[in-house]
Amino acid sequence: MGMQCGACGAQGMVRFRNENFDVEHADMKVTVEGLSGWQCAQCEEVVFDADSAHRYAVAGDALVSRVRRDEGEEIRRIRQRLGLTQVQASVLAGGGPNAFSRYETGKARPIAAVRNLFRLLDAHPALIRELLPEHVSTKAASRPAMRSKRGRTDSVPVR
Ligand SMILES: [Zn+2]
Repeated sequence: MGMQCGACGAQGMVRFRNENFDVEHADMKVTVEGLSGWQCAQCEEVVFDADSAHRYAVAGDALVSRVRRDEGEEIRRIRQRLGLTQVQASVLAGGGPNAFSRYETGKARPIAAVRNLFRLLDAHPALIRELLPEHVSTKAASRPAMRSKRGRTDSVPVR
């Protein structure tokens, strides 16, 4: 008689050794090699041995940190390109005045709507003016809108 499955209650969990498991988070994946433990033949629940459980958890934490850092750097790059302060970006996207400080340092992850908004603004930076008509960007954001049909760069009166 084998170990009982804590998930489904079936008897007879099967021993496995030295197998690879993937950890996935936000479209990223890492493989943790050489894990051992027990797997339920009925519901496929996995119970790792203590050492394997620790290694799997550490790999998961590292992946979450990496995703947050990468996303934080992306958000910062786009915000700076748009010529927004962290507070301005937070007012625009919501989440409180410190939201972008937390996003950019990886302490928090912006919701998908915020990530997608900033990716769209990265592709079409001039659209920042649709959201903030008074905003005068120092960078690429305002350039396309200032170009006349002849390709000259006209001076535009400040609103
Ligand atoms: Zn089970």
